[in-house]
Amino acid sequence: MAAPTKTCTKCGFFSDTPEQDFSPKASAADGLHPYCKGCKAAAQRETRRRNPGYDKEYYRQHPEKAIARVRVRRAVKQGRIKPARDFACSMTGCRHSAEHYHHLTYNDQAQIAPVCALCHAQIHSGDSSERDLTAVYVLDANNRWSTIFGSCEN
Ligand SMILES: [Zn+2]
Ligand SMILES: [Zn+2]
Ligand SMILES: [Zn+2]
Repeated sequence: MAAPTKTCTKCGFFSDTPEQDFSPKASAADGLHPYCKGCKAAAQRETRRRNPGYDKEYYRQHPEKAIARVRVRRAVKQGRIKPARDFACSMTGCRHSAEHYHHLTYNDQAQIAPVCALCHAQIHSGDSSERDLTAVYVLDANNRWSTIFGSCEN
């Protein structure tokens, strides 16, 4: 049973109708999410923004992107290309190590660039430009790995 009143732990919104204002959450002590519905929706949008690969619906609508991602992941597993983590972030001026490959193209010539999570999110939000990438690699249709520009240490 939900408590008769509840305060959002994010925005401090006080509700005397928690069951209307908070989403159910089975694992919570009071059966409700700690964030109000508005904050929960905002937090979900933020998660999507930070994790470009998170939105499954997006990949349903863009199957070629899902295919290219799988192709790159498989090439990493097979040792054809190094994992993104073995590289420094290829964004100009960034000193982080890379965590993901950002895809510039999704056809047979999959162009990818190793980037850190922050730069990756910034590319997708438009705060950073693909033009500022200092290294771009390509995985061709035969899963051959080569460099378009920048250093390819593989
Ligand atoms: Zn809230
Ligand atoms: Zn990306
Ligand atoms: Zn970076």
